[in-house]
Amino acid sequence: MRILLVEDNERLAELVCQGLRSGSFAVDSFATVEDADLALASVSYDAAILDIGLPDGDGLDLLKRARQRGQALPVLLLTARDGVDDRVRGLNGGADDYLVKPFAMEELLARIRALLRRPGAALGVQLSCGRLNMDTSAREVRVGDTVMSIPRRESELLEQLLRRAGRVVPKRALEEGLYGFDDDVSSNTVEVLLSRLRKRLTQGGAGVTIHTLRGVGYMLAEDRCD
Ligand code: CA
Repeated sequence: MRILLVEDNERLAELVCQGLRSGSFAVDSFATVEDADLALASVSYDAAILDIGLPDGDGLDLLKRARQRGQALPVLLLTARDGVDDRVRGLNGGADDYLVKPFAMEELLARIRALLRRPGAALGVQLSCGRLNMDTSAREVRVGDTVMSIPRRESELLEQLLRRAGRVVPKRALEEGLYGFDDDVSSNTVEVLLSRLRKRLTQGGAGVTIHTLRGVGYMLAEDRCD
């Protein structure tokens, strides 16, 4: 999932990049209309996050040109608290949603995920591996027809692993995915949560295993029927 971020406030751009990456998104970040326009015209992004006041112009011009090119990607605007006119202009100009600065990173992630889940958008609602099925919008996990009760932080980890099933997820990415939850994330939090999750998956007969690749990360894979 590749996201375009256009924001000229360096500090904010950095925070948003970090947040998106921890949410398992790839991000390209630009600070000017010119650079962003070039990127939008050449890369197929799954969604864009646009600031409006940019050093060389108006973020809404980017939106306008993208729509003129026939690009239907979801666009989220970042607007100032008093930017009512911007929001109205933006929504009329084809933006899908907006967020008022300052905002919580969790909310930005939730909005982006919601946009990506819309019909025709990139993010699948249903993730599956083995007998395991996860509905990411309802946060419901099933093994076959049986609903499994999984605590929120474990289900967050499970979602990240499921999104990259069969591929290695670095431990750090899993840790970052847990930031924003209430508790501190200490170095062994992920291991503790994964150990509980493994037990749950085994007991529930999910038909998947979370493999540890020492020093690298973790991988969720379907159990082979030998
Ligand atoms: Ca700005």
